[in-house]
Amino acid sequence: MNVDLKNKIVVITGASKGIGRELARNFAYEGASVVINYFHSENEAIELFKEINNYNSNCLLAKADVTNYDDVLNMYHQVINKYSRVDILINNAGKCDDDLIYFMSEEKWNRIIDVNLTGTFLCCKVFTKIMARQNCGKIFNISSLKGQEGCSGQTNYSASKAGVIGFTKSLAKEVGQFNISVNAVCPGFIVTDLNRHNQKKVSIARNKSVLDLSSTLSDFINFMMMMCSDNIQGISGRVFTLDSRIL
Ligand code: NAP
Repeated sequence: MNVDLKNKIVVITGASKGIGRELARNFAYEGASVVINYFHSENEAIELFKEINNYNSNCLLAKADVTNYDDVLNMYHQVINKYSRVDILINNAGKCDDDLIYFMSEEKWNRIIDVNLTGTFLCCKVFTKIMARQNCGKIFNISSLKGQEGCSGQTNYSASKAGVIGFTKSLAKEVGQFNISVNAVCPGFIVTDLNRHNQKKVSIARNKSVLDLSSTLSDFINFMMMMCSDNIQGISGRVFTLDSRIL
C-alpha cells in the first residue's frame, strides 16, 4: 500500500523531543509540511528544524505553550498565514510527574491535567474551526495505556489520559458532520525523557509485553502515517492501543 503524505499540512504539538520529534522527522521525510511545536526545548526544536530543512524546506517552527490559549491562537495564525489550511492535528505534547496520592500536590495534579488534557482541548478548539470551514480534517490525540488501565503513582497522568479518551469520543460525535475525524492513539512503551528516569517502569513494561518492545516506535510512526494518509477515511471516535502489554 502506498502511503502518500505529500503536501499534507500536519501540526504536531510537542515535536521537540521523543515521539513527536520522530513523527516530525518521518512526516517531513514523506513530503508533509510539518508544524514543529515546542515550548521549553528551543535548542532541540531548532536543531530538528535545521535537520529537516535539509530534505524538506516547507516546515514551520512554532513556539507555543499548549496550556495557554493566546499561545495556541498565535500558533494557529502562524500556520494559517503560511499554509492557509490544516489537514492533520496531532496532539502529542505531554508530561508526567508521578507521586503517590498522599504526596501528590495540587500543583502537580493541575500541571499534568493542564498539559495533557487542557492542551489537547485548546488545540482542538482552535484548529477545528479551520477544519470545519475546509469540511475535512483529521485529529489524533495521544493518550496512553495508563488512561485505560490506570497505574499506581500516576493518578494525575492516568486521569489526564483517560480524559483525553472521553474528550476524543465526544469531539468525534460533535465534528463528524464537518468530515473531521478524531481518534485517540496510545503508543506502545517507548523510552524517552518521559520515562527513562524510572527503570522500574521500563522493566515492568518489558515483563508485561508478550512481544519485543523494540519495535513499538516504528510501529507507532507507521500506524500514524497510514492513518493520516487518504487511504483511511471512515474511522473516528476510536482508541488504538499499539503494543502487546496484555499480561
Ligand atoms: P517527551 O520525550 O518527554 O516529550 C514531550 C514533548 O511534549 C516535548 O517535546 C515537550 O516540548 C512537549 N511539551 C511538554 N509540555 C508542553 C507544553 N506546555 N507546550 C507544548 N509542548 C509541551 O515525551 P514522549 O514520550 O515523547 O511523549 C509524547 C506523548 O506520548 C505524550 O503525550 C505522552 O504522554 C505519550 N505517551 C508516551 C509513551 C512512552 O512510552 N513514551 C507511552 C504512552 C503515551 P518542550 O520540551 O519543548 O516543552
